[in-house]
Amino acid sequence: MRWTERQQRQLHAMGLRPWGPAVRASIAPVIAEAGEAPEATQQPVVAATAVTAARTGAPSTGAEVRVESLPRVEADAGIASMGWTELARAVSNCQLCGLAGTRTQPVFGVGNPQAHWMIVGEAPGEQEDLRGEPFVGAAGQLLDQMLAALGLSREAGPPQRQVYIANTLKCRPPRNRNPEPVELQQCQPYLLRQVELVQPRVMLAMGRFAVQSLLESTEPVGRLRGRVHRWCGRPLIVTYHPAYLLRNPADKARAWADLCLAAHALRSDHA
Ligand code: SF4
Repeated sequence: MRWTERQQRQLHAMGLRPWGPAVRASIAPVIAEAGEAPEATQQPVVAATAVTAARTGAPSTGAEVRVESLPRVEADAGIASMGWTELARAVSNCQLCGLAGTRTQPVFGVGNPQAHWMIVGEAPGEQEDLRGEPFVGAAGQLLDQMLAALGLSREAGPPQRQVYIANTLKCRPPRNRNPEPVELQQCQPYLLRQVELVQPRVMLAMGRFAVQSLLESTEPVGRLRGRVHRWCGRPLIVTYHPAYLLRNPADKARAWADLCLAAHALRSDHA
């Protein structure tokens, strides 16, 4: 696979060398743009049979996690039947947890509601709270660069090249503290309804609170990343949050490999 000059610039901006060993190992499964065949042929090893039934409470070993249904959304019949306009209004007016009293505004989501890709982050930070959009600031720029290197964007474009981005928690915790379990639980139906409305073909869970909300796993991100999980019939890839990558640049190559794995999983599911 050849990288265009634009892609090389984007990888460089991420702190990755296009032909560094980690990147080279990750590109084999990626769909080459414009029909270019990948140079490498070895496919990543993805555990397809070692299934941890997250909802049965079986101990997780860092193997693949499958989530087959959405019981909490079904339990909340009001949210489960909402369309986009109603859902956005409900989030805007939501007072279900204490964060309603400290937020500037809720951060609903951004992107094409028919996007093939969906990214789930954690909670809004200061800039997201002020702008009302997820993944802005330095972490957002890094995410946009990583997406652009695969030809993806949260901006305009065809659904197959677009991402829809939402957070697990819609309102900023004060001083960016970690979300409380009760806050994640109260907010989860909104996220699950967003996923149902978007119907993405592949999902990325970025950071441990996104993982906890979607996969109901307390395994560290480092043990769950690098494999394809299944979430309501679609592939889900766990990876590091861009804010973490800014503090731990050595893990950027792993995050890039996760993004490439997601592209491969999408292609495999729709070959
Ligand atoms: S964080 Fe979620 S549950 Fe809490 S007030 Fe905001 S929208 Fe409502």
